[in-house]
Amino acid sequence: MEKMEVSKELVKKLLDGVISDQEVLRLLNSYKDEDRFQKYMELLQERVPWKDEILLRLSEHIYVVRKSSGERISKCSCGHEFGDYRVNWKLNCLINVRRTIQEMSEVYSPEPACPEPDWQEIREFFCPNCGTQLAVEVLPPGYPVQFEFLPDIDGFYRDQLGSPLPDADQYKYEDKSLELIKSWAKEG
Ligand SMILES: [Zn+2]
Repeated sequence: MEKMEVSKELVKKLLDGVISDQEVLRLLNSYKDEDRFQKYMELLQERVPWKDEILLRLSEHIYVVRKSSGERISKCSCGHEFGDYRVNWKLNCLINVRRTIQEMSEVYSPEPACPEPDWQEIREFFCPNCGTQLAVEVLPPGYPVQFEFLPDIDGFYRDQLGSPLPDADQYKYEDKSLELIKSWAKEG
């Protein structure tokens, strides 16, 4: 297989969705260059208005970053901080729930395409700062908020990238969402 140098410019085009069919084929037919993740991270870093180091991108607007204090948090592209990345960031969003057929038909068309009320509800998650809709989930009422992705960041940097993070031993891989929910119970 042909080994192809993938320039930062090409990764930029990939990010912007303006890559040509020919370039897609070239990418598919070549070995992945070792520093592609690095180039991707650099490009993302150039596009956000803050300085915290991006460790991983979770979705279009959500990043796991390392703050200058060393803390690892999830953060919106607008700068809003959701706290420890091991807590489901959705729990710190503004949440709109659609339960009735009237509410659902505002976002589903035609009406027969709507989820069935009583069996399912639509939950919309918004950034409390910029108001961007960050996620949508359709689940039975009462079903826990889905934690879409709890990345093993240290395992990824160590095993996949071959360059362990300097603070690798400080973040145990665990879901800490319940700790937040328990703290709400105490407040109540
Ligand atoms: Zn935001």
